[in-house]
Amino acid sequence: MSTAELQESFREFLRGFRTEIEEQKYRRRLSQMALTGSKSLIVDFEDLMAFDPELAKEIVNNPDEALKYANASILEQMRIEDPEYAEQVGEFFVRFRGLPERLSLRRIRADHIGKLVMIDAIIVRATPVQPLVVKAAFRCRRCNEITLVEQKGPLMRVPLFCANCKARQFDFDEKESSFIDSQEIRAQEKPEELPPGQLPRSIDVTLRDDLVDAARPGDRASITGIVRAQQTMAGRRGGLRTFELYLDANYVDVSGREAEILEITPEDERYLKGLSKDPWILNRLKMSIAPSIYGYEDVKEAILYLLHGGVRKELPDGINLRGDMNILLVGDPGTAKSALLQYVARVAPRGLYTSGRGSTAAGLTAAVIREKSGGMALEAGALVLADKGVCSIDEIDKMRPEDRVAIHEAMEQQTVSVAKGGIVATLNARTSVLAAANPALGRYDPYRNVSENINLPITILSRFDLIFVFRDMPDEELDRKMSDHILRTHQIRATPMPEVSPLPPEILRKYISYAKRITPTLTDEAIRELKDFYLKMRATSGASDSPIAITPRQLEALIRISEARARCFLRDKVTSEDAKAAIRLMTISLQHVGIDVATGKIDIDVIMTGKPKSLRDKMQAIMGEIAKEEKEYGAAEEERLKGTLASQYGMSEAEVASVLNQLVKEGIIYSPKPGQYKRALI
Ligand code: ADP
Ligand code: MG
Repeated sequence: MSTAELQESFREFLRGFRTEIEEQKYRRRLSQMALTGSKSLIVDFEDLMAFDPELAKEIVNNPDEALKYANASILEQMRIEDPEYAEQVGEFFVRFRGLPERLSLRRIRADHIGKLVMIDAIIVRATPVQPLVVKAAFRCRRCNEITLVEQKGPLMRVPLFCANCKARQFDFDEKESSFIDSQEIRAQEKPEELPPGQLPRSIDVTLRDDLVDAARPGDRASITGIVRAQQTMAGRRGGLRTFELYLDANYVDVSGREAEILEITPEDERYLKGLSKDPWILNRLKMSIAPSIYGYEDVKEAILYLLHGGVRKELPDGINLRGDMNILLVGDPGTAKSALLQYVARVAPRGLYTSGRGSTAAGLTAAVIREKSGGMALEAGALVLADKGVCSIDEIDKMRPEDRVAIHEAMEQQTVSVAKGGIVATLNARTSVLAAANPALGRYDPYRNVSENINLPITILSRFDLIFVFRDMPDEELDRKMSDHILRTHQIRATPMPEVSPLPPEILRKYISYAKRITPTLTDEAIRELKDFYLKMRATSGASDSPIAITPRQLEALIRISEARARCFLRDKVTSEDAKAAIRLMTISLQHVGIDVATGKIDIDVIMTGKPKSLRDKMQAIMGEIAKEEKEYGAAEEERLKGTLASQYGMSEAEVASVLNQLVKEGIIYSPKPGQYKRALI
């Protein structure tokens, strides 16, 4: 196509394209641009393909030339639609959305250089917006004459000599130069589209002009752009023969914001609704969760609810209440924690599996990092990349200190804030967290509470709606059944179809996606049920010296679990059955972790403050005795303490020894001599 033809054909398209419902789609869009002050015309590529396939082909194969003329024809047409606006802006851009072919990021090759392509990706990194000089003005030091130099490439081009007086000394004149906004972002393969066992690949994308800030780290986007190659520099020796590919963006379509995660056709919808009518649906859903893993029925039920999630609420005063649930699995090695986490990351409509250490510089949350070029960039970590999905965090106890701080905000407010290196940003992390932790001492010690068993602060533990403890105890009956199950899973054979069968992962994923569209509301009966439970638990701890059993955090968790269960039935009402099921799971979880081993009472204080009430009482008694002995003898004697505490408080010698140990470990007392103790802080 000749250039004149190009420009004319595109103008023809702008004027002539019509659909059944709309006479002049692009003329209308042009007139709207003036109203919204936009300089970009967004064109649906399929419209162009339908109207003028040859022009469409030209644009894909020869975009540099073709876009230039398409932009010019927009200006021409705008002069007719709105001459004043055309004059005021002077330059317009055509931006293409929805190319017929989505190129996989890892398939971009040398063949694509100079071509227009579209990729689907997640944005993982962004630099601040910076002005980029496109026409640099240089003032001659001798005669003051201005020389303008068009700029291309990464380095500034300077004139050789002044056209007027031939002098070679210049000053850069910022006022006479023209700048545009510029930003670099990094696009990476979406975690859920990654081939199994592969590391995600990424490509840098340059955004210019009105495209800057079109996407933030964590956003999912379809990016249309021209593939370009930039020479790799080898220091002073000059450029290498290998080049690095990058994408010069033409359009960034941020789909992740509202779009559905999975497409559900009307047929799917009919099928899923039919499924939900099955009287055994809840059982089928439960048994569809990690069918290869034996046992753990309650944990699987909880995971099913985590996948469905509760309802996020935006209160009139601007406060958001998260709908996403967080679950923690703590336990002995080899109890299928990692296997469950990996399963969930695979089956969740948007799942991501990471270890506590994180696999990138950004770790679990977000970080400001220094780029190769020396500038700063904001990089999203796992919780941001899993926005609107499920983040499986294995070995969460090994996360980095920076993440320990940031995860508090991420798990309750569901945002990650960063203010460092001149970058200030708040990213979304509306993520359900399924985490696993190993006991600090290798195996779970049932005589210590959960916070003593794992290396995580109480403030993080209390952000989990449910915590389950997995203990590996030899049990002949159980071992036989489990080994049978594992061996059969490994034996390749035709599976007989049982009457009630689990759902295949694709169906389960669709079911969850569809269920998540429903926003169930609490019925009065459900409210009564939850309130009764809450008040009862609070009342048992009513007397001032008994442990507090439950806090408002657990009440919110109960609501989320009940709502999630209603979604499993595709129901928009939360019934009292939903509430009862939530209460059952909550009780189990509290028993797993919160039981005060000494009194047998459920003691949420164990999770909230790290010590069961009975232990705090004992510590207090011992501290009191140590204080008395210090006054009388200068230091407390272990043997004497044991005697007094046995007679006055009924504590065994072993208990006294263990509490003394604990107090020394926490630095509350110290031992000046073996068998003697003094208070460290008076
Ligand atoms: P963890 O992360 O708890 O240390 P893993 O998930 O790595 O343990 O489990 C170790 C192996 O044992 C995995 O292959 C897992 O499938 C198997 N396994 C452990 N418990 C079960 C179970 N209940 N049912 C089936 N397989 C199990
Ligand atoms: Mg593991």
